[in-house]
Amino acid sequence: MMKWEENVRKVVPYTPGEQPKKSHMIKLNTNENPYPPAPAVAEVVKNFNTDMLRMYPDPAIGDLVQEIADFYKVSRDEVFVGVGSDDVLAMIFLTFFNGKKPILFPDITYSFYDVWADMLRIPYETVPLDDAFCIRPQDYARENGGVIFPNPNAPTGELLPVEVVESIIKANPDVIVVVDEAYIDFGGESALPLIHKYDNLIVVQTFSKSRSLAGSRIGYAFANKTLIKYLSDVKYSFNSYTMDRITIEVGTQAMRDRAYFEQTTAKIIATREWTKKELAKLGFVFGDSKSNFIFATHPDIDTVKLFEDLKSADIYVRHFNKPERIRPYLRISIGTDAQMQEMIEFLKKYLEK
Ligand code: PMP
Repeated sequence: MMKWEENVRKVVPYTPGEQPKKSHMIKLNTNENPYPPAPAVAEVVKNFNTDMLRMYPDPAIGDLVQEIADFYKVSRDEVFVGVGSDDVLAMIFLTFFNGKKPILFPDITYSFYDVWADMLRIPYETVPLDDAFCIRPQDYARENGGVIFPNPNAPTGELLPVEVVESIIKANPDVIVVVDEAYIDFGGESALPLIHKYDNLIVVQTFSKSRSLAGSRIGYAFANKTLIKYLSDVKYSFNSYTMDRITIEVGTQAMRDRAYFEQTTAKIIATREWTKKELAKLGFVFGDSKSNFIFATHPDIDTVKLFEDLKSADIYVRHFNKPERIRPYLRISIGTDAQMQEMIEFLKKYLEK
């Protein structure tokens, strides 16, 4: 071993879902939105004055921050913007999880949390979900260095009512509580209004799912201005120009089109409920997801084999090997009606065999 090896920060990175380059496929593996972003986004990209790219972008991402603040009726110093909510969450881990006590998150959850914790040497403990894959709020009422969970949770899709989220925040006044609301627009009630009631709350959201902009990388957080200031100080100490000029404009336009956002999320919710009915008819078992995916298993078939067989038919879904308890489950993102119909047809034939 070389001497310098001992000084390397060794990490086991997060494994994102596959991004196959195929012209015809049904891609239901990374919870992307099947509809294009708001029409004004295409105009931004088409008409962008490339001469502007000579200059650094606005480090404060002011236009986009203002648009988000207007949409959600909060003040601009209560908004932080990052390059995808992954960036926002990474900055939150770096800024707020600096204690010696372990931070808490569910044992089945977004599989990036333990990666950040390991990378940043943050002690953590995972808290088991109950048998129905639900978070038990009382398990978070103990000494810890911080709390983070997605609502709805991923990859289960299970939603906590906002009163239950509040009970977790209330039980943890001495640490920062982060509610990761990547999927909240598909049927959940946001904890956002609670940032005015609890000074230890951060709510994180993203443009990647409900605003069809996974490819642009825009995420944001809401909290009181003291927390946003701490977060911004760390961001500026790391990389001040995080978001490029085109993305800032793209995000601003997407946030402005409320009608399109409401229309596409309503379509996805309707397709999700149709898909649930069809999967149930075929004997699949799943919870009442309020996200843009369904986490399903089947008592009579080998779902790991099904995962591979779907892939051979160019239908991509997501399978997680760990923890053991979720090995028999597949996470199926909600696509267009036509895509879901094609998948259901495939499954019907598959189960007839
Ligand atoms: N949180 C959760 C729970 C997620 O599932 C994802 C998507 N992988 C993210 C955050 C990050 O999304 P993005 O960086 O695209 O905003």
